[in-house]
Amino acid sequence: MTSTPRIVVLAGGVGGSRFVLGVRGALRARGIDDTAAVLTVVVNTGDDLWLSGVRLQPDVDSITYALAGVNDSERGWGRVGDTERVNRELQEWDAGWPWFTLGDLDLGTHLARTGWLREGLTPTRVLERMSHRWPLGARLLPMTDAEVDTVVVLADGTRMHFQEWWTRHRATLAPARFENPGIEHARPAPGVTEAIADADVVLLAPSNPVVSIGPILAVPGMRAALRDASAAIVGVSPIIGGKVVRGMADVCLTAIGVETSAAAVAAHYGARSRHGLLDAWLIAEEDEALSAEVAGRGIRSLVTPLWMTDAARSAALAEAALGAAGL
Ligand code: GDP
Ligand code: CA
Repeated sequence: MTSTPRIVVLAGGVGGSRFVLGVRGALRARGIDDTAAVLTVVVNTGDDLWLSGVRLQPDVDSITYALAGVNDSERGWGRVGDTERVNRELQEWDAGWPWFTLGDLDLGTHLARTGWLREGLTPTRVLERMSHRWPLGARLLPMTDAEVDTVVVLADGTRMHFQEWWTRHRATLAPARFENPGIEHARPAPGVTEAIADADVVLLAPSNPVVSIGPILAVPGMRAALRDASAAIVGVSPIIGGKVVRGMADVCLTAIGVETSAAAVAAHYGARSRHGLLDAWLIAEEDEALSAEVAGRGIRSLVTPLWMTDAARSAALAEAALGAAGL
């Protein structure tokens, strides 16, 4: 067992932040205090958007707030104890989106970020700066410095920002596909491929495979970095017992022709030995019957509790993922 494994996690917002908290917890339980030195999180920035003149990074902020312990865990997004005075004022001006709430404290984050971007800092440098405020215990990297916001294309050709489709329409409009315009010209943010190359394990958080992990993998150079990594790549299923746990990932999976099952998502990522990604895949006890199917795809499958309902369970799951990599 390596006592201080270097870990890279690929993550989206809600599932991602719970899992990252678990990884930090597992490292602390091993007696590692400086977890930021060994834990790098590559965060989806496909959800990012410009609204009322400020840059929003929903998944980056979800993970930052969760690691800082200032997130609103009841609501599932934003800052705990936030107020909405500015939001009401924006609505009086008929500015922004009436169905999209921006908390006052949250707006402080967006203003700080936008100011630094306007001064010429890259998203990577901005995130580094934002990481100084709280002891996060992890190094956060955006997947790319390029603006490649996710666009949903409906069957009739209508295009809208992912956030509008998700928050305003609650994913009820059937998507034909998801696009990240310009991503073909993007590259991984500085430090990302280096972290992957130096890692002892790369973990795929149980995040939305289509609109959280999907954009990360779509950044040119990302798959090659993963393929070349000496580290084992271990994924955690976001699907338990044929259902998504939080959110509406099933709609996204259906749109790209993937069944909402732990085995189908594993097949979607593919076995590393067969030009895919995964060395190992963690599935829930509820899905034990799918173990053989996953193994048949050339992916080692491990059955373990996947519910991240509290910090201890999340840490146990992370420990199981490290164990799957022999760490
Ligand atoms: P988002 O960016 O806020 O949508 O969050 P993510 O993409 O990081 O995570 C969303 C996914 O997390 C959903 O598809 C859920 O199925 C999954 N998820 C949420 N909570 C849990 C949990 O407790 N256990 C597991 N295994 N998956 C979870
Ligand atoms: Ca997200």
